[in-house]
Amino acid sequence: MADLQAFREETKSWLAENCPKGARGPGEVHTGSTKVTVSADTQAWMEMMAEKGWTVPMWEKEYGGAGLSIAQTQVLFEEMSAIDARPPLVNMGTRMLGPTLLEFGTEDQKKRHLNLIARGGAAWCQGYSEPGAGSDLAGLNTRAVASGDEFIINGQKIWTSGAQNADWMFCLVRTDPDVPKHQGISFVLLPMDQPGVTVRPISLISGSSPFCETFLDNAVAERRDLVGQLNEGWSIGKRLLQHERSGQGGLGPSAARSRPVGVSVDLGVAEVGLSYVGVTDGKISDPALRDEVVQWKMQDAAFKATQRRAGAESQNAKAPGEATSIFKLVGSTLAQDKQELIVKLMGNSGTGWEGAAFSKDEIGATRSWLASKAVTIYGGTNEVQANIIAKRVLGLPD
Ligand SMILES: Cc1cc2nc3c(=O)[nH]c(=O)nc-3n(C[C@H](O)[C@H](O)[C@H](O)COP(=O)(O)OP(=O)(O)OC[C@H]3O[C@@H](n4cnc5c(N)ncnc54)[C@H](O)[C@@H]3O)c2cc1C
Repeated sequence: MADLQAFREETKSWLAENCPKGARGPGEVHTGSTKVTVSADTQAWMEMMAEKGWTVPMWEKEYGGAGLSIAQTQVLFEEMSAIDARPPLVNMGTRMLGPTLLEFGTEDQKKRHLNLIARGGAAWCQGYSEPGAGSDLAGLNTRAVASGDEFIINGQKIWTSGAQNADWMFCLVRTDPDVPKHQGISFVLLPMDQPGVTVRPISLISGSSPFCETFLDNAVAERRDLVGQLNEGWSIGKRLLQHERSGQGGLGPSAARSRPVGVSVDLGVAEVGLSYVGVTDGKISDPALRDEVVQWKMQDAAFKATQRRAGAESQNAKAPGEATSIFKLVGSTLAQDKQELIVKLMGNSGTGWEGAAFSKDEIGATRSWLASKAVTIYGGTNEVQANIIAKRVLGLPD
């Protein structure tokens, strides 16, 4: 405990001294992409944190991390939160592929890929979904054929987030079409900058293009970048999804960022919308709306408490499990409900799309509301999470 206190003091003073002003508060976060230019402060912050191994604090030092315990990592995140420091580096490499490679990768894969991820040298995208394989992911058809030291890959991926700026893709491919569908899938890594890969951005209703169609036309993955055994990629792909859902559900050391219940009055859902509804004696004047806000806040508080409890209970767990689906389901529903409630509180002002009649914040609220439609879809839909919880957590029959 004394050691942890000493670590807290050291961390606190290092952060105060080194975190640039431009890396505090809301703003851009480094994604590791070699195709995106960031501000000098964002770049410097990422590099300083990478030097300490704090872009991926829990990874071993030989793979670019700092080998911190969960308790130390929580302290680091709490102290970053205290000065409003942004995360130095966030991408699918740090959160999803990295932890999967730590469990399943060869030594060569770990040395090559993890160190590059940790120092912000590559952004990754996820080549799972296909036009005919979303919820039924195991029905995927992208075909990979072994040829010497390579796999030659043909097919189409869709909804590939960030593919336009990614340097590498982790991809589920069919390597044996003649066995039951879950048994003929492999997990491979391939560079995006090659003639066989074409990406075409897709526009969303929110006005942005965060994902792409990705066409693989004789694309090449090196044989040494097959993760795990040939045709045994399904369980690796599922583990990666558990890491993804764990992050989406706010589990792990990042739960330290959520405040303990009762410590502060977090306006949360109401803060944007409060100025739009009558507030008397510190209360929203419409009792029905007041009730909705309180209901949401109670559920949010209960969820945060559960995140912290689950985090504490799983301190020694080596990898996330099927229960991550509970957090993904509840967390994404709450996040979506919050955006609904905000535009509701804003009344007509919550319908702004463009033009001088609406402020920047009002237009931002509308777009966030539309963007929030995706949170109950990506990482597996709510219905799919409910299926996993029923079958794999509660043990109900098919
Ligand atoms: C913003 C965003 C980012 C994404 N990023 C990526 C990415 O980077 N990489 C990637 O590979 N994919 C990505 N996806 C794709 C995402 O994983 C799929 O959209 C999702 O798995 C659903 O698949 P689908 O769109 O094909 O819908 P479908 O599978 O066709 O589902 C349609 C509807 O049917 C329901 N349904 C389907 N099967 C069942 C069932 N068995 N029981 C009950 N209901 C069912 C679903 O819940 C859904 O409501 C992203 C999606 C979004 C929205």
